[in-house]
Amino acid sequence: MATLVTSDEPARAAAFTDEPDAALDALLDAERERRRTQIQLLAGENLSSPRVRALLGSDFADKYAEGYPGRRHHTGCGPADAVEELAVERAKALFGAQHANVQPYSGTSAVLAAAAALLRPGDSVLAMSLAHGGHLTHGSHANFSGRWFSVTAYGVRKSDGLIDLDQVRDLARKARPKVLVAGAISYPRAIDWEAFRSIADEVGAHLLADASQTLGLSAGGTIPSPVPYADVVCGVTHKVLGGPRGGFLLCTRELTERVDRAVFPFIQGGPMVDQIAAKAYTLGRAATPAFAGYTRRCVANARALAGALDGHGLRPLTGGTDTHLVTVDARALGLTGREVEQRCERAGLLLGHCAVPYEDVPPASASGVRLGTLCVTTQGMGEPEMQEIAALIRAAGKEPNSGSVTERVRSLAERFPGLSTKPQCEESASL
Ligand SMILES: *Cc1c(COP(=O)(O)O)cnc(C)c1O
Repeated sequence: MATLVTSDEPARAAAFTDEPDAALDALLDAERERRRTQIQLLAGENLSSPRVRALLGSDFADKYAEGYPGRRHHTGCGPADAVEELAVERAKALFGAQHANVQPYSGTSAVLAAAAALLRPGDSVLAMSLAHGGHLTHGSHANFSGRWFSVTAYGVRKSDGLIDLDQVRDLARKARPKVLVAGAISYPRAIDWEAFRSIADEVGAHLLADASQTLGLSAGGTIPSPVPYADVVCGVTHKVLGGPRGGFLLCTRELTERVDRAVFPFIQGGPMVDQIAAKAYTLGRAATPAFAGYTRRCVANARALAGALDGHGLRPLTGGTDTHLVTVDARALGLTGREVEQRCERAGLLLGHCAVPYEDVPPASASGVRLGTLCVTTQGMGEPEMQEIAALIRAAGKEPNSGSVTERVRSLAERFPGLSTKPQCEESASL
């Protein structure tokens, strides 16, 4: 009946319109263009695939699901429970872990939860010095870690830039930490997790492996995994794994309850279910031979890049790399790390500056440059392109504002579009 149809109309109208927003559309276009024409060498960035980005922002994004599968505070969690169980099972299978928690919003949240599970304010922690490659969550005074815990820092050896395990053992004996943290943001070498385990055992500490930077390489079998050795392992899905931004925790069966309660309700409320769905996809993909091949290519590319930069006088710190990370001393260019970073940015090469251990200058004048091969390897670049990139970095440092360098960067980037250039609406439609 016509009258019924008419009276239905207001109830059917959505409360929100879905009008385009010209300001945001223009910004998204600008970001897409930047990404298409620049070369991304920032150490922790990767390029997520269209399917990852379709799951992010999917209908799961709206769901409130406080708690854990089967024990939620909210109703309507059937599909959300299944998604989280899938992500947890895939994480456990991928890393051979006894327990996994996939709710941490980020890597920092994962470390905060691990600290909450293992420590009380004022407790003693031994972790890698920030100046030698440790992360903010390993004792920075600007961060909860430095504010709430009594942190002693270990570092790398002056002679070869490698972690000084003798020093770690000496400091552990003196500081008697409740938690020993292994893992770094800016250390290109594989970490000897077994040696850290034996030091932790000697002093009765828990071993916390913050492997956020490299855990994806271990998933691909390319470097040793901390999982057999650490009590708690922190990881992220957005770096090597190439998935959504976000963190996760792996731990021993005994610590299950402490870790889960540290994430929720201690530091977080409702989990981001869409993010967890994208994590589940990413953790499944990481179990494939294709992903293992990707991790090997990331490392082969990093070694090629380190070698080529060395050839241009930019000496690799620690002499090389076992991972996707390359750190070099830029002094040969007569520039600080920050100056190299800025000149490269103007040419469309995005990389970072870092400290060179034992260099006697203020942090702003540090001579280190830090790069990673995750994005360029995702795009399909190989060793010849690493040679080209090293030459472009040198050229950008030597000839600032050179139009021809910028042109060469752009044409290299455009030769390797990867999976990322389709408009987002087409990406979703193509699933
Ligand atoms: C990237 C990283 C983090 C932080 O991850 P966010 O998601 O940026 O919070 C913490 N620790 C290490 C070792 C990392 O590499």
